[in-house]
Amino acid sequence: MHAEPVYCPQCGASSLEYRIPEGDTKRRNVCARCGYIIYQNPLMVAGAVLEWEGKILLCKRAIKPRFGLWTLPAGFMENHETLEECARRESMEEATAEIENIALFSLYSLPHISQIYAIYSGVLAGGKSEPGEESSATDLFTPEEIPWDDIAFDIIRENLRLYLEHGPGNGHVHTGTVMPHPGAGAQAETGR
Ligand SMILES: [Zn+2]
Repeated sequence: MHAEPVYCPQCGASSLEYRIPEGDTKRRNVCARCGYIIYQNPLMVAGAVLEWEGKILLCKRAIKPRFGLWTLPAGFMENHETLEECARRESMEEATAEIENIALFSLYSLPHISQIYAIYSGVLAGGKSEPGEESSATDLFTPEEIPWDDIAFDIIRENLRLYLEHGPGNGHVHTGTVMPHPGAGAQAETGR
């Protein structure tokens, strides 16, 4: 996300300057030819923690990063879709999973990578899942079986922990921040 664009997306010139545009407070990539300003803003991720008969659905990643580790179905929002549509689409794409009783569960900031995570909770319809293209396996885990050391991301580990402690979304949304540094740095403050 921090890669510098090489060409101006408006006029195609390669004359980008990294400077503070007039009236702005932060440095941006600005096209010296046409004046186009390239704003880079946080990306939104939506996903879901899905339960079936006391077990939680996890997907084994078939893509980088964190290839081979387990995660919740989640991914970047597409333009023109709603947050909930994104969570449903990602669950379908990564686990062929349909969601019942969907409810917003948590909203977390990851400022070090400029991402926001919105995780829904729900029932895994029929208990059925199949790995999609980005997964090599899907499986249901009891709380005791969750492979904590093989969870792909701190934000996912945090959501699993929250879910086991509080249960599915019930109108209260857990909020917080996940910082870098695994273990010591997972300073997530959860709302009450
Ligand atoms: Zn330009």
